[in-house]
Amino acid sequence: MERYPADMTDFMEMFSTEEACLEYLSLVRWPDGYACLRCGSKRHWKKARGLFSCCDCSYEASVTAGTLFQDTHKPLRFWLQAIWYVVNQKNGVSALGLQKVMGFSRYQTTWEWLHKLRRAMVRPNRDKLSGLVEVDETFVGSVHSGKRGRGAEGKSLIFIAAEEATRGIGRIRLSLLDNAAAETLTKVVQETIEPGSHVRSDGWRGYNNLPRYGYTHIPVMHKDAASGDATPLTHRIASLLKRWLLGTHQGAISHQHLAYYLDEFTFRFNRRTSRSRGKLFYRLVEGALQIGPVPAKALKHKM
Ligand SMILES: [Zn+2]
Repeated sequence: MERYPADMTDFMEMFSTEEACLEYLSLVRWPDGYACLRCGSKRHWKKARGLFSCCDCSYEASVTAGTLFQDTHKPLRFWLQAIWYVVNQKNGVSALGLQKVMGFSRYQTTWEWLHKLRRAMVRPNRDKLSGLVEVDETFVGSVHSGKRGRGAEGKSLIFIAAEEATRGIGRIRLSLLDNAAAETLTKVVQETIEPGSHVRSDGWRGYNNLPRYGYTHIPVMHKDAASGDATPLTHRIASLLKRWLLGTHQGAISHQHLAYYLDEFTFRFNRRTSRSRGKLFYRLVEGALQIGPVPAKALKHKM
């Protein structure tokens, strides 16, 4: 049974103390109840500060150990407030925006928090796309809009895969690419799309090897498409993505961090119809507990 706040009032009631936050994290982390991380025993007693002590082997585990929250100096209340804010902003939030809302004196803190949370937005064993999936590549750059073509300088190449749904677009996946060569594209398709799926492309020969790997390739040249656009779904995603990068983040994103922004965009897009913001909150808390600690050094602040 997933428990999450229904609204702001509910949120404030649920997370008014550190103990309440720790209790919530333990329920999300161990939905079936805590079992000793060393001997597996379910017999335990809870100590203060989120510590679980095993009755059989005396091993003590903290609910935040080995999670994104492991080494934080800030109260968990602030973390959960930040997560609540992040999931409630339809288009996401910039580090400056979050700093203002949280009232933190250091910009660096919210900058790091958002980067850490982005890492928690995509789960390692996520499902692959299936059915009819449209694929394309697009260039993203911070200054110029970029002309169509493969191999432009100073831009990041992004692979887009979008499921065709009865009403528009289903789920999407985005990946950063080194190039648009057949080997690269075959690999990224295998990583993101279930074999047996139908893959529609604009006819770029980089996708020609797909049938060898169990996919049905449907190349459609733009000139042959009724609307003049053979890959309308991925083009729509590309334009939403570019608008988001320029809008929420003012395009101030370095190539080294781009993959994580793609994860955030994907997280938000794939849950755009989930009516409950609370559910999104739960997913993000769950993700934060599943990924290990992210040391600030790993973020390499270069702004
Ligand atoms: Zn034990």
